[in-house]
Amino acid sequence: MTWTKPKAIPAPSKKQLARFSASVHHEPMSGCWLWAGYCNPGGYGMMSLGRGANYLAHRVAYFIEHGKQPSAILRHTCDNPCCVNPDHLVEGDQQENAADMVRRGRQSKGEHRHTNQLKAADVVDIYYKHFKWGERASTLAKYYPTSAGNIGQILRGYSWKYLTKYLNV
Ligand SMILES: [Zn+2]
Repeated sequence: MTWTKPKAIPAPSKKQLARFSASVHHEPMSGCWLWAGYCNPGGYGMMSLGRGANYLAHRVAYFIEHGKQPSAILRHTCDNPCCVNPDHLVEGDQQENAADMVRRGRQSKGEHRHTNQLKAADVVDIYYKHFKWGERASTLAKYYPTSAGNIGQILRGYSWKYLTKYLNV
């Protein structure tokens, strides 16, 4: 995917400011300001500021709130692309953005869980299933509260060795 620098936001007129306010739906639970106008396929609200020029609504929101252009990357702390609450927006560079995505991805997949959440009985199971029945670490990771990487560590004897050294396979 190529990435292009977003267009600079022109100062909205009074009429456009009124249209902005009218396009916002305040969501009380999250505090998000949901964009009720057109959203692009990525789920980001879009606002026209005259002559058919469309701008990302959250960037317009930032401009209205702070009176200056947002930096090239403007992230949502609420993970809600259609939110235009300036309090839910932070400026950040691309690297931070990527790190954020990786972090969120990990949390949702549960990769942050550690080997020590396994019980000894699980480790014995994993060990036998791999060495006796040929189950792969990636398959085993679906059935035990740990990642394929951690299972690999067990199978190679880098973790739980005090237990696995007694297993005959
Ligand atoms: Zn929000």
